[in-house]
Parts: sequence; C-alpha cells; structure tokens
Amino acid sequence: MKKVIGIDIGGTKINSAVIAEDGSIVESYTVATEAHLGRDEVIKRIVDSINKLITPEILSIGIATAGFIDSDNGIIVFAGNIEGWTGLNLKEEIEKHVDIPVFVDNDANLAALAEKWVGSAQKYKNFIMLTMGTGLGGAIYDERIGFWQGSHYQGAELGHMVMYPNGRLCTCNQKGCAEKYVAGSSLSINYKELTGMDLRGPEIIERLNTDDNAKKALKKLAIDLGVYLSTIKNIFDPEAVIIGGGFINTSTYWWDDAINSYKEYCNRPVGMEIKPAEFLNDAGVIGAGKLAFDKI
Ligand SMILES: [Zn+2]
Repeated sequence: MKKVIGIDIGGTKINSAVIAEDGSIVESYTVATEAHLGRDEVIKRIVDSINKLITPEILSIGIATAGFIDSDNGIIVFAGNIEGWTGLNLKEEIEKHVDIPVFVDNDANLAALAEKWVGSAQKYKNFIMLTMGTGLGGAIYDERIGFWQGSHYQGAELGHMVMYPNGRLCTCNQKGCAEKYVAGSSLSINYKELTGMDLRGPEIIERLNTDDNAKKALKKLAIDLGVYLSTIKNIFDPEAVIIGGGFINTSTYWWDDAINSYKEYCNRPVGMEIKPAEFLNDAGVIGAGKLAFDKI
C-alpha cells in the first residue's frame, strides 16, 4: 500500500504520522515544538521526526502549519507562532534533508481536508470548517475551487469577523472579533467578566451544576455561536458547517443551546447541516497526508 508522512506543527507539539492511502494512521511520532527556540531548532525537530518514520515506500511529505501559507510554493507568508517562521520557504528547507517532495499548507485547511477525506464532511460538495480551540480557525471548501485562499493567502480568517463593534481586543488588534466570543478560550473570558476570576475552561465546565456564573458564561458562548453561525449561513450558504477543535469535547453541555440560538437568530436556518468534526488531535496529520497524496 502507498504511504506518505503527514506532519502537524502546533504551538506546543509536532505530531507526525505515516498515513496510508485509506487515511489510516500506520505509525506516529510526537515531539515538543519548543517554538521559543526559533526556526532552526523547529526545522531540526521536523527533520528528526521524518527520520524516525521514513521508509523506502514513503512517497512524499505533507506539512500543516499555522498562518498565511503560499501553498503553491511552500512559503510561510506570515505566522506569529514560531520565531523566524514568517518568510520561510519551508518546502525548500525540508527538501534539503530528504529525497522526496514536500508540500505545505495552512493547518485549518488541512484539518478540513481530513474531514472531507475520511471524516464528517465526506458527502458534502462544499462546507465551512470551524476550529474552536484557543483561537477560532476557519476553512472554506468548495470542490470546484478547493480551499478559498484569498488574494494574499489571508482569506478564510473566519475567527476575525467582527461580532461586537468596539468589543474585546483581539490578538489581531481588531476589537470584537468572533475569536474572542466563540473560541474555546472565550469561556474563560466570559466567566472572568462575570466574576473577576481566572479559571480554565475545564474548571468552569466542572462547576456547571454548582455555579450559576459558570452556566451563564457557557450559555453566552452558545448563544454567540448560534448568532455567528447565522452570519456564516448568510455569507456562504454551505451544505454544512463542521465544528472541530478541542472545545468540541465539551459539546454535550452547549450543543443544543447553540443550535437553538442559530434557529432563533437566522432568517433561513434550513438547509445548512451543523455537525461535530470526527477528528481532534489527528486532523492535522491526516489532512497533511492527504495533501501529500494529492500533490504527487
Ligand atoms: Zn481578530
């Protein structure tokens, strides 16, 4: 069976895996990113990961990384998560160390590609993927055009649509971005606004039965997500929205409230399916594997 290597460079971990033609993970390897040590150290860790997994039957390598990515050339146009990453031709840099082709794309796009290939989005001709984690990632897919990149590789930044004018300050310097209200990390911000206390998301979830403010903080997030989904519907009219990211683990506590909010706020809520993603931690390596298969 044909195989490739998929690599997902996250802020804290580099996940790598041998991916088979059917989308299954044959073998995997994880190492800390140590992003603060800068680009040369991260490149070394990527090459080490490849050397742990490579065999003669591996055809190519796909890499998922955050930021604005020129996927045609493998260049990181802008990324804020690893020092020295902006401007790097990651494809050329890794190809110096291996004899097989290397391909690079944005991590949110590749998570969506994993869902399209073997996950929740298989049957859809077009869909939007939202990743609710520390931030709010977005991908726009249509099988006629592939992923929407925009004119400067800055398209599909769905987390930075303004929901509340002059609202919470975002890491992108805009105020009121959706990322500050409907990312996984927004639960802590909502709770702090109510109580002045800093608690992590899981701690707030644990308090749901005993703490009214925990309930209110989560309810606000769910209602905001419903409002946000109605904007997504009106702009894109997709067959489906797939919601992934670490926060989806807690969906039993907020899913119904979010769907009810969407139905309440959207002018025409019918016709857009809303589904949880199939993959969490493995989405990046599987999507990177699919990229590696598609490009050769
Ligand atoms: Zn923003």
